[in-house]
Amino acid sequence: MLLINNEKTLSREIDNFRKSGKLINFIPTMGNLHSGHSSLFKKSEDKDEIRLVSIFVNPLQFNDCNDFNNYPRTLESDKKRLLAETVDVLFLPDAQIINELRFVSSLGLISRKLCGIDRSGHFEGVAKIILKFLDLIKPDIITLGEKDYQQLLVIKKIIKDFKIKTKVKSCPTVRDKDGIALSSRNKLLGKKIFLARYIPTVLKQITSEITEGSFELHRLKYFKDYLEKSGIDRVHYLEILNEINLSSLTKVPCVSRIFIAISIDGVRLIDNMRIESVLACSKNGIIKVSQKY
Ligand code: AMP
Repeated sequence: MLLINNEKTLSREIDNFRKSGKLINFIPTMGNLHSGHSSLFKKSEDKDEIRLVSIFVNPLQFNDCNDFNNYPRTLESDKKRLLAETVDVLFLPDAQIINELRFVSSLGLISRKLCGIDRSGHFEGVAKIILKFLDLIKPDIITLGEKDYQQLLVIKKIIKDFKIKTKVKSCPTVRDKDGIALSSRNKLLGKKIFLARYIPTVLKQITSEITEGSFELHRLKYFKDYLEKSGIDRVHYLEILNEINLSSLTKVPCVSRIFIAISIDGVRLIDNMRIESVLACSKNGIIKVSQKY
C-alpha cells in the first residue's frame, strides 16, 4: 500500500496508474475504520481498479469543537485494516489542505433538511473538502455509504452541478448483530451503546406498520417520545422523506426512507432505512403503500 501525504506525489502516482489503464476508485473516510468502511473497500471483481482511501477528520464539517476533538483517531490500526483489505493507496492530507478550499455556493434543499437544520455549515464543509479531493484525484468512481444518506445526496449534487465525470457508487449500511449501524462514534457511548439498539427497532417497526396498512404521520411523535422515554437524551429528527430529493411525501407516489438523528451523552448518531414499497401521502398525513416492489 502506498502511503501519501503530499499532493504532488499523489498527482504523480495517479498519473502512473492511469497510464497503466487502471480506474481510480476513491473512498473518502474520517478514519477509525470498521466493517462498514471495509464494505466500501471490497474490490469489484470485474474491474481493474486502484482503490484510493483518504483519512481526514475535516474540521469544517464539525459545528461543535468537542465533537471534533473527541472524534476517535486510530491511524495505526486503520493502516493495518487497509493493508488486510489490500487497499492500494492511503492518502493522508496535511491539515493545511482546508486553506485551499473553494467556496461552495448553494447546495439547495437537500442540505437544509434533517442534519442541515441543527448542524449549520456541516454540508458546506463536506462539499468543500470533497470538491478539493475530486479536483486533486479526478477519480473514475467515488464509493460512499448509504449510512450517511444525506451526505451521499449532497455529493451527488455537487458532482452534477460541477459537471464532474466521477461515477458515484453507493453501498448499503452495515449493521452489528443487534441492527445498530456501525459508526466510529458508537465507541464513544461506552456502556450506553445498548440505547442505540432502539434506533433500528423503531425504524423496522415504522417500516412494518407502513407496509402492513396505513400509517399516520403524527405517529412519528409517539416513536420520538418512546425513544426519549427509553433513555435517549434527544431525538433531533425522525422523518419519512422522498429518497431522491428529501422532499416531504405527497399524493404523488415515491420511494422513501425513514431518517433519524439522536443524541446520547452528547454523542450524535444518525441512521436511515429504505421503505421497500412506493408510498403516497394524503393531505391529512396518511401514508399508504401505492405499489410494492
Ligand atoms: P466516515 O469515516 O464516517 O466519514 O465514513 C466514510 C464513508 O464510510 C462514508 O461514505 C460513510 O457513509 C461510510 N460508512 C460509514 N459507516 C458505514 C456503515 N455502517 N455501513 C456502510 N458505510 C458506512
